[in-house]
Amino acid sequence: MLSLLDDLLSLFYPRLCAGCETPLVKGEEILCLGCMADLPKTGFEKTADNPVAQIFWGRADIRLATSFCTFDKGGIVQHLMHQLKYKGSKEVGEKLGRLFGSDLIRSAPYREVELLVPVPLHPKRERKRGYNQSAEIGRGMSAAMGIPLLNGTLVRNHYSATQTNKGRFERWENVRELFSVQHPELLEGKHLLLVDDVVTTGATLEACAQEVLKIPGTIVSVATIACA
Ligand SMILES: [Zn+2]
Repeated sequence: MLSLLDDLLSLFYPRLCAGCETPLVKGEEILCLGCMADLPKTGFEKTADNPVAQIFWGRADIRLATSFCTFDKGGIVQHLMHQLKYKGSKEVGEKLGRLFGSDLIRSAPYREVELLVPVPLHPKRERKRGYNQSAEIGRGMSAAMGIPLLNGTLVRNHYSATQTNKGRFERWENVRELFSVQHPELLEGKHLLLVDDVVTTGATLEACAQEVLKIPGTIVSVATIACA
C-alpha cells in the first residue's frame, strides 16, 4: 500500500536526478545510473603518490590522500557541489560519500582508518547553511566503510577571509590559527581520515592536519569528493 502511494506520488512529483534532472526510476536514489557511470572518478586511492598526495608533500605528514572525482568545470561534479553547498541538497553529500566510501573500503590501506573527521565550518556559517557539507559526505562514507564519524571534535575558530589571489605563505598565515581540537583524548593514537568537499591549494586540510598531528600518536589521511 505504501509502495503504491509512493508510486502515485512519484507520478505527480517525480524525484529528479541531482546530476541531470531527469526523473529517477525505481531503485535509483539521488543520482541516476547514467550520472553515476559518468562521474569522473580519479581512482587515486589505488596509488600512494597520486596528485592529491603530492599537494601535501613537504607541508604536512599525511599518510594517505585521495579525491573521489576531478572537478570538471561546467560538468556534473561542479553541478553536484553547487547543489550541496548552495542549494540545500545535503542528501547529495551523503550519496557521494556512500559511493566514495564503497570505493575506498576496497583499497587495503584505507581499511586501516579508524575515525572519519569532517573539516568543520565556522558555527556561524553552519547555522546559515543548516548543515556542514563535509559532515554529510562523512555520514555517507561512514555508512559505506563501517568506520565511525566524529563530529564536533575538530572545530573552526575564525571566519577565514577569501583566499584567492594570495601566495601560499599568506594563505597559510590566514588559516594557521583557524582550527582547534576539543577532547583530544578521543583522537589520541588513532588513524584519522579528514573529510572535505573539495581540495584546491590544500591550505585548509593542511591546517587541520597540523592541529590534529599535535596529539600524540595520531596518523592523518585526507579524502575529498573533488580535486581541482
Ligand atoms: Zn542523472
